Amino acid sequence: MAEDADVIVVGGGLAGLVAATEIADSGKRVIVVDQEGEQNLGGQAFWSFGGLFLVDSPEQRRLGIKDCYDLALQDWMGTAGFDRDDDHWPKRWAEAYVAFAAGDKRDWLRAMGHRIFPVVGWAERGGYDAMGHGNSVPRFHVTWGTGPGIVEPFERRAREAQKNGRLTFRFRHRVDTLVMTNGRVEGVAGAVLEPDGVARGQSSSRKVTGDFSLRAQAVIVASGGIGGNHDMVRQNWPKRLGEPPKFMISGVPEHVDGRMIGITEAAGARLINRDRMWHYVEGIRNWDPIWPRHGIRILPGPSSMWFDATGKRLPAPLFPGSDTLGQLHYIMSTGYDYSWFILTQSIIKKEFALSGSEQNPDLTGKSWRMTIKRATNKGAPAPVEAFKQNGADFIVRDNLADLVSAMNALSGDNLLKPDHIKAQIEARDREMSNAYVKDAQVMNIHNARRYIGDKLIRTAKPHRILDPEHGPLIAVKLNILTRKTLGGFETDLDSRVFGTNREIIPGLYAAGEAAGFGGGGVHGYRSLEGTFLGGCLFSGRNAGRAAAKAVG
Ligand SMILES: Cc1cc2nc3c(=O)[nH]c(=O)nc-3n(C[C@H](O)[C@H](O)[C@H](O)COP(=O)(O)OP(=O)(O)OC[C@H]3O[C@@H](n4cnc5c(N)ncnc54)[C@H](O)[C@@H]3O)c2cc1C
Repeated sequence: MAEDADVIVVGGGLAGLVAATEIADSGKRVIVVDQEGEQNLGGQAFWSFGGLFLVDSPEQRRLGIKDCYDLALQDWMGTAGFDRDDDHWPKRWAEAYVAFAAGDKRDWLRAMGHRIFPVVGWAERGGYDAMGHGNSVPRFHVTWGTGPGIVEPFERRAREAQKNGRLTFRFRHRVDTLVMTNGRVEGVAGAVLEPDGVARGQSSSRKVTGDFSLRAQAVIVASGGIGGNHDMVRQNWPKRLGEPPKFMISGVPEHVDGRMIGITEAAGARLINRDRMWHYVEGIRNWDPIWPRHGIRILPGPSSMWFDATGKRLPAPLFPGSDTLGQLHYIMSTGYDYSWFILTQSIIKKEFALSGSEQNPDLTGKSWRMTIKRATNKGAPAPVEAFKQNGADFIVRDNLADLVSAMNALSGDNLLKPDHIKAQIEARDREMSNAYVKDAQVMNIHNARRYIGDKLIRTAKPHRILDPEHGPLIAVKLNILTRKTLGGFETDLDSRVFGTNREIIPGLYAAGEAAGFGGGGVHGYRSLEGTFLGGCLFSGRNAGRAAAKAVG
C-alpha cells in the first residue's frame, strides 16, 4: 500500500517538533499528527519556564561558577539513584544526556537563534552529601523568551519544511491505534475531532467527525506524559511516596492525558518505571485558570519557613528549593496533602518566581526594561502581586496571631497552634544575629548569598520574619501539583522502542515525556530540573535522526 510519508510523528509538542524537523531537514517526508488544534503547537513546552540544564556554559563561567561533566554526572547519578535491571538504558541515556548538556546542546540551540537569560538559577540544591541528590552548582538556564522561546526555532524550521512540502501537520487527528503488519509498525489510525477554536491550553472538544489512517515506514510516539490525568497519576502512585493525595491540582493542560501510553503498550511496547514521577509540592491554585484544576508552581528562593499541616517545621534539609520528592514524601507522611510557607514581603519580593511562560511577561516578552525591575522594584513582580491579592491560597496579615487564625480558617482543619508557630519562628529569628549559625536553613541562606546570581535576584537579605520592617506577613497554602512522568517506553540510544519480548519493535520510536525523556526514564527517581525540555530536545533529535536514516 502507498505510504503517506516516510515517518509519522504522534504529537506536536517539543519532542515531536524536534524529531519532525530533523526528519524533514534530512530530506525525508514527515507527517505530524496531533489531537489538538494548530493553536496548541508546541504542547507543554509553550507554557514552560524554558529552564534548561546546561553544564559549564559561558553564562555559568561569567558568574564564576565552576562546573564540568564529571561534577554534573556525579550529581545526576546521585539524584537518579538508578537501582533496577530496567535502568540499563535509562543509565546509558543519562550519561549521553549529561554529555549533550556539557557539549553541543547550547551551540546547537544558539545556531537556531535561541538565547539565554544571563543569571543562572540554582534549582534542586539537595542538602545531603556530595554523592546525594541535587545540583552542586547553579545550572538552570532560563530561555530568553521562556517557553515560547524554546518552541520558536523548531516551529520556524517546521513551517519552512511545511512550505517545501516535506512536513505536513494533521491537527485534530487523534491516534487510537498503531497499525502493525507482521510485528512491524506501519502507521497510525484514529479519529478526526471536530474543529474547535478554544484558546491555547484550554480543553477542546472530543466530538468525533470521522476517522483516518496513515501509513509510513516508521512512527515516533511523542505524545507526552500523564500529568493531566489524575486517575492515572493515582494508579501509578508509588507506595514509597505514601498514599496518593486526595486533592491535587494540575500543572499541565488536559491533553496530557496519557491515552497514547496505553495505545502504544497495546502494540507490544515495553513501558518501564511507570511508578516514577515528578510532582511539585509548592502548587497554588491559579486565580485565572486556563485549563481544568490549573495550578502554578512557585519556584521558591531559600528563605520562606516551611510548615506541615500540623504546624511543624519541615526537617532539614527539606527547605524551599532543595529536594522536591523528599518534600513530597515527608508531606504525604503527615496524613495531609498540603503544607504552608510563612514569609515576609521582603522575601516574596525577591524570592518568589512562578513557573510558566504566562507568569513571567518580562522574560517571555524579552523585555530588559521589565526584567531589570526584578532586582530594583519595591514590590514583587506583577504576576506574584496578583496572586498575593487574588490567589485563594494566599493570606496577608500584619501580625502573626491574625495570620495563623486565617490559615486555620482557610484549611478548615484548625490544626495550627499560634504559640507553636510563634516559638519556631522566634527561634529561627534569633539565629539572624550572626553569619555563623546552627540552623541549617539559615546556613543555606548565607550560602546562597555567596553566589552572585542568588544575591542579585533570588535570595532576600537575611532578616527576622517577625521584623515589622519587612512585613506584612504572608502565608501560602501549598498544594500538590501534578507535572511530569519520569518513566516511559524503553528505548535504545536511537530511540527505538523495545517490545515486551525485549526485542526492538521494527518501525517504532519514542521521544520526550512518552519515553521518560529518553530510554524509559533518564532521570531515575529524581530530576535536577531543566532536564525535561532538554530531554525532549535530545531524545527528539536522536529519534528524528535515527528514523530518517532507517527509512532509507
Ligand atoms: C507550566 C510548565 C512549566 C514547565 N517548565 C519547565 C522548565 O522550565 N524546564 C523543563 O525542562 N521543563 C519544564 N516543563 C516540562 C516540559 O515543558 C514538558 O515535560 C515537555 O514540554 C513535554 O514535551 P513532549 O513533547 O514530550 O509532550 P507534550 O508537550 O505533552 O506534547 C505531546 C503532544 O501529543 C499530543 N497527543 C497526545 N496523545 C495523542 C494522540 N493519541 N493522538 C494525537 N496526538 C496526541 C498532545 O495533544 C500534545 O500536543 C514545564 C511544563 C509546564 C506545563
